[in-house]
Amino acid sequence: MPFWPSVIIATPAHSGVGDWLSYRSEHALSPGALVRVPLGKREVLGVVWECPDQPPEGLDPQALRDVAGVLEGLPPLGEGWRKVVHFAARYYQRSVGEVALAALPPSLRELQPEQLARRLKRADKAKASSTKPDTPKALTPEQAQALDAIGGATQPVLLFGATGSGKTEVYLQATQRALAADPAAQVLVMVPEINLTPQLEERFRARFDPLFGPQSVVCLHSGMTPAQRLAGWLAAHTGRARIVLGTRLAVFASLPGLRLIVVDEEHDPSYKSQDGARYSARDLAVYRAKVDHCPVVLGSATPSLESWHAADQGRYLRLAMPARIGGGSLPRLRLVDMNHQPKGASLAPPLLAAMAERVARGEQCLVLINRRGYAPVLACDACGWKSGCPHCSAYRVFHKLDRTLRCHHCGFSQRVPRACPDCGNLDIAPIGRGTEQIEEQLTDLLADVRRPDGSPARVARMDADTTRLKGALEAQLDALHTGEVDVLVGTQMVAKGHDFRRITLVAALNADSALFASDHRAPERLFALLMQAGGRAGRDAQHSAASELWVQTWHPAHALFTHLRTHDFAAFAAQELADREAAGMPPFGHQALVRADARTQQAAQAFLNAAAKASDGLPLRDEVTVYPAVPLTIQRVANVERAQMLVEAASRQDLQRFLAAWAPHLLAARQVPEARGLLRFAVDVDPLTI
Ligand code: ADP
Ligand code: ZN
Ligand code: ZN
Repeated sequence: MPFWPSVIIATPAHSGVGDWLSYRSEHALSPGALVRVPLGKREVLGVVWECPDQPPEGLDPQALRDVAGVLEGLPPLGEGWRKVVHFAARYYQRSVGEVALAALPPSLRELQPEQLARRLKRADKAKASSTKPDTPKALTPEQAQALDAIGGATQPVLLFGATGSGKTEVYLQATQRALAADPAAQVLVMVPEINLTPQLEERFRARFDPLFGPQSVVCLHSGMTPAQRLAGWLAAHTGRARIVLGTRLAVFASLPGLRLIVVDEEHDPSYKSQDGARYSARDLAVYRAKVDHCPVVLGSATPSLESWHAADQGRYLRLAMPARIGGGSLPRLRLVDMNHQPKGASLAPPLLAAMAERVARGEQCLVLINRRGYAPVLACDACGWKSGCPHCSAYRVFHKLDRTLRCHHCGFSQRVPRACPDCGNLDIAPIGRGTEQIEEQLTDLLADVRRPDGSPARVARMDADTTRLKGALEAQLDALHTGEVDVLVGTQMVAKGHDFRRITLVAALNADSALFASDHRAPERLFALLMQAGGRAGRDAQHSAASELWVQTWHPAHALFTHLRTHDFAAFAAQELADREAAGMPPFGHQALVRADARTQQAAQAFLNAAAKASDGLPLRDEVTVYPAVPLTIQRVANVERAQMLVEAASRQDLQRFLAAWAPHLLAARQVPEARGLLRFAVDVDPLTI
């Protein structure tokens, strides 16, 4: 008697194909089994969802095709995996197949059975570990309390610990406990950007390679080659890997023995996917822990306001670890009022003097500026020409080192013109400052400063440009660790995760843009960045008494600085949450965006407005507010016009039910004549930026 499995394949929600396709099979197949099925003239990878012994109602069984084959040697994907994929698809308004197949390593699709068998075998060969073994530390009372609470937690745990308070040690020991309790147990540890935190991977390997073998830790992130990703995925799926360390996509890893999930730096925006299904890996981690009945730990020194609010309400368990290990204190805030500094100076004299003093003492400084390149704009004084990008509504950035004008949105790059392209004026000048220029200025201004050994001060730069080449990031971090570099200039990437012993001064040069941004999350991100950057300073108790966080600002009286001065995240969060509540913003209200890309702005907006109109009369329409379509701040990128429409509701459920009812109308709105030239649209649920 045949079976009639329903199989999910990679079909975008837009294609109009349903979530499941029905096939025929001589044998019963387990839900979660990986199969190859015919689709038109092709054969594609699919996942069995259900396998009834009755043909689906309303379909002619004769018309259904046979499953082409099962991927031998691979156990089926587990129920927890299927549930999280299904939930993500529903919640973020995508098809189950799109989410499921995107969650599998791409090369699984192309692999022939013999190749797969070889891969499964090859992975068994172990490679020797090169890291120095590490043993658990005796925990502080705060850490011990946190560790116990995690073990017994019945709700998500928010580990609110200052930088250097020993959160990572708690993750390590919680992991060890979970793994020791059950030989099949697995732990998922998520980090924002893995290549920015090589130290974390090292610490996990050093701790667990000796205990569970050199294959016990695997990584999963998008920077890996297809072969590496497949190997890591297989190791997790077959249970050989005990610990998966990964970025947001790892939340979809197949982990049959999952017993604990850790989300480090849970506030980090990179947990939210910005293409395909726009999922929040942090939120999905909480859901996954629920369906897999395991504890989940969200760790941060500056939690997201969503998680903070959940803890306020008692939905999450908040554990605080305010003290730094070794008794180091957090850096003192030094605000530089730019209203009282020499006109045009990008580095205030008192800041420069403080840096010179540190370098002379053999200490290190970190200087943050959120723009890379030499200057954000090049301009002609005579005719008003500016270095706009011909393809985007944005300026091209002046990169002095390779003498290019480069668009950071579409990548369009040209050599810097000798003279103004419009009027021939030879005197075209940079406006504003980026990392290259600050590096140049500091090199110049600190030229006479000597280190304790008498050698000149060394200034280096670290941003997306200097770390593009493979190995460059590691080399630059090394230079800082070994003390070759005295002053490091960089974008926010330098603020993340690194453990630099001798940094005693951190300076943020242009923090103001976030204070008055239209984006309501900008202050939250700035506060987190400054706390995190400041956390780089004074990790050594020996230096910490004198460590300082300098911020250059035109608005020293801003409330954000009041809380930053006392390192009082709780007070900052309370104030931000009060503002959000008054404005009905998340986490008190719920939002979704519909974004549209088109050849013309009119077409993008016409599509959105037609979709809005079609929502009249839908269930829960009265519970949601649909705002008019507007162009994005950067309206055109790579010759594509972009518009968006905000949808708001007081209740998450109402918003979800409205969006589900609205989905077919969004598809239909593509057909209105005014929307000709529409390229694509996407729904972003719980958007991070509006
Ligand atoms: P966080 O993750 O909160 O920034 P870490 O876990 O990295 O903090 O701890 C900061 C430093 O303190 C690390 O060098 C770590 O090895 C050390 N450390 C952590 N816990 C202990 C402990 N209980 N005893 C001694 N040193 C510790
Ligand atoms: Zn000109
Ligand atoms: Zn461009």
